[in-house]
Amino acid sequence: MTTTVETPSEHFVPGNLPTHLQHYINGEFVDSIGGKTFDVLEPVSNQKYATAAAGQAEDVDLAVAAAKQAFTAGPWPKMLPRERSRVLHKIADIVESRDDELAYLESYDSGLPITQAKGQALRAAENFRFFADLIVAQEDNAFKVPGRQLNYVNRKPIGVAGLITPWNVPFMQESWKLAPAIAAGNTVVMKPASYTPLSAVLWPEIFREAGLPDGVFNLIFGSGGIAGDYLVKHPDVPLISFTGDSSTGATISTAAAPQFKGLSLELGGKSPAVVFADADIEAALDATVFSVFSLNGERCTAGSRVLVQRDIYDDFVARFAQRAKNIVVGLPSDPATEVGSLVHPNHFDNVMNYIEIGKTEGRLLAGGGRAEGFPTGNYIAPTVFADVSPDARIFQEEIFGPVVAITPFEDDAEALTLANNTKYGLAAYVWTSSLKRAHNFAHAIEAGMVWLNSNNVRDLRTPFGGVKASGLGREGGYRSVDFYTTQQSVQITLNESHSPKFGSVADAAVSGDS
Ligand code: NDP
Repeated sequence: MTTTVETPSEHFVPGNLPTHLQHYINGEFVDSIGGKTFDVLEPVSNQKYATAAAGQAEDVDLAVAAAKQAFTAGPWPKMLPRERSRVLHKIADIVESRDDELAYLESYDSGLPITQAKGQALRAAENFRFFADLIVAQEDNAFKVPGRQLNYVNRKPIGVAGLITPWNVPFMQESWKLAPAIAAGNTVVMKPASYTPLSAVLWPEIFREAGLPDGVFNLIFGSGGIAGDYLVKHPDVPLISFTGDSSTGATISTAAAPQFKGLSLELGGKSPAVVFADADIEAALDATVFSVFSLNGERCTAGSRVLVQRDIYDDFVARFAQRAKNIVVGLPSDPATEVGSLVHPNHFDNVMNYIEIGKTEGRLLAGGGRAEGFPTGNYIAPTVFADVSPDARIFQEEIFGPVVAITPFEDDAEALTLANNTKYGLAAYVWTSSLKRAHNFAHAIEAGMVWLNSNNVRDLRTPFGGVKASGLGREGGYRSVDFYTTQQSVQITLNESHSPKFGSVADAAVSGDS
């Protein structure tokens, strides 16, 4: 049985909760020109707690025009990297100082357990600090051909970057795009996910206080199919950085292609966690349970397929299922909660649908539906299916909730075949005590990121991104700076310019020369 905390009768509501969220364009909070709004629900009661401005084409036009003006005529792109860096460090300081407030807003809006929301605000601050440092340390090449030519790289910000973000850990995801985009000297128009717009309204205050010039950051709320699509197709937006579902990524690629925009796509995953019999089983158990059930299972890098070597399979699966049953499901605001409420009733229905499919595809060992003691809200009991075959939908498709598929394997070759047997390739986790196996397996696996005997902690300098349907391009460290800048090569001769004298024959004929 799933462990549940006592359901407090009072659901925690953060103080000063706004009841209406506005766009932020050129330093001003504004509504949509036509006055359109959409309702924002909180996931514990699924009641509307706010309305948000619903951006249309004309609102996006205004935001892009402000960002363009700030790029072409404003100080930000021309400032010394050190000056921009100071502003970014201030942003990081402010985000850190508002850690608690941010965490409660994020948890309230998304259903994320409060203890896990707190970590996200600190990660967001760290993203700003990291790119503040990186932009000052940025160096570029110069190449000399002795006595003949000098070549150098003139790195430049590109212009207006369109940033489109998902609803899972929204504030942190936004920081991951905002920090490198503005550090590099671009201006931005950001469109957050409609399920979770709340924490984004803090950015304008934070940026103002830190001294970011008006127009550098612009925020548009609204539907992806309208405001997002228009932003992607806008001729004055040369860059699009998108994180979200793979099918949306495909739509955005197609929409952006005719204008040859710079595209970074961080997409879905169905990442394998491969546990060999020679692994540290306790560590593997802790990590694999955490990987799929933390952040309510709404984690792009979740190890949602656990592949276990046959020799330890029965024991491992039994212990995994017991852990899942022990997980504390509860109110997002309760510090004891390990799994909170899924973000939205539509998403709850999707995950419940997959659970029903799973019941026909695997052996149900834990969970299997709504969490006991929670007749309302988007609470799902951590769910474990064992003996799942590789052609099952719950093995192949991203569920993005607290649901795991466990499958046995005999040897390395079968483990690799199973691990690579999905359209996705975002992350992979390998548990073994053999160094040789760990590295060889990591090199053979089709995944953008591999963790060996460890769990989802990454130095910010490393590349982040996926292969296959999990994405296009890499962000992280200098790769983010590369995405948000263009590298112009400049050449000058150190000698005479030697050009063949095309067209000089006629001149010679007229002048009588031969
Ligand atoms: P979606 O793709 O549904 O939405 C992401 C964002 O895109 C939202 O802001 C959405 O707006 C917007 N959008 C939707 N349609 C369009 C369109 N046609 N043009 C432009 N913008 C559009 O993803 P979710 O929000 O559901 O996020 C979950 C997904 O994100 C999962 O697949 C997950 O794996 C993935 N993800 C990937 C990560 C990675 O780094 N690889 C990290 C985190 C999540 P609206 O909200 O209004 O629909």
